[in-house]
Amino acid sequence: MEAVVAACRSALAKQGTVIVLTGAGVSAESGIPTFRGKEGYWTIGAREYQPQELASHAAFSEMPWEVWAWYLYRRGVCRAASPNDAHYAIARWDDAFKSQNDRFALVTQNVDGLHRRAGSPPSRTYAIHGDVDLMRCSVECVANLWPIPPGVPALAKGEPVGEAARGLLVCPRCGEMARPHVLWFDEAYDEPRYRLDTVRDLAAAACLVVVAGSSAQTNLPWQVVMLAARNGATIVDVNIEDNPFSEVAAQSGGAIRDSAATALPLLVDQLSR
Ligand code: NAD
Repeated sequence: MEAVVAACRSALAKQGTVIVLTGAGVSAESGIPTFRGKEGYWTIGAREYQPQELASHAAFSEMPWEVWAWYLYRRGVCRAASPNDAHYAIARWDDAFKSQNDRFALVTQNVDGLHRRAGSPPSRTYAIHGDVDLMRCSVECVANLWPIPPGVPALAKGEPVGEAARGLLVCPRCGEMARPHVLWFDEAYDEPRYRLDTVRDLAAAACLVVVAGSSAQTNLPWQVVMLAARNGATIVDVNIEDNPFSEVAAQSGGAIRDSAATALPLLVDQLSR
């Protein structure tokens, strides 16, 4: 930890953006499972699906209400969860930069809304994989995002989407079925919905990137770290396991092999002194 703190201090003395990049591991201690491991599996009929199969446009085209049922179950898990010490530490760090003209940015792969609930401001939070509380038109008649209507209930595991909820999960403009506002594994990032260009620009201008609880399996998080590293930024990895980001971090800031809810408050407190 001491070596990482020292590396972060020298990075902070330079000019540039400070980015915290979070993955599902940051919310694991709030009780929201990551996609790795048995907990992520989902049974439809006689078959068990992996999250990567269900979180796809292909699955939505074939069985939209089953995919919605999975999201409404997961949304219920997210809403029942509370932010943990990692989310609060990131919000405190953002606050410490408030006089420095938007120098801080939070880039999150998480769709659970816990950063927002911990106090990270929407203006500096880039939810690059979407948000389980939002929906949009499935035929993209407009680019608008809408909150999922309050009448749509959380579902228990295996519970189907009822008729009343189906009537609410429609595009308010054209009446076609709505879809969850999340980036699926067979879809591409873009600027209007997922802030691709803005996040790439922030990364290119970064002096420090702290990655927490991410396995480096998705494209934009990897781009953020590589763009920043190539431009001389210090990279730090916080994760309970080795992963491809640890190897990049080993070249500059180093890794903290501990849970996000333990490591991030310690790191932020030391850097705020
Ligand atoms: P991921 O790529 O973010 O991998 C999870 C990582 O967290 C792993 O490297 C694991 O070692 C690490 N980890 C687990 N517990 C940890 C802890 N307590 N402290 C620190 N690190 C910890 O995510 P994924 O599960 O492969 O999911 C892929 C995508 O699916 C995500 O990018 C996201 O868009 C979506 N997803 C979101 C949520 C959420 O919003 N909470 C949960 C699951 C999946």
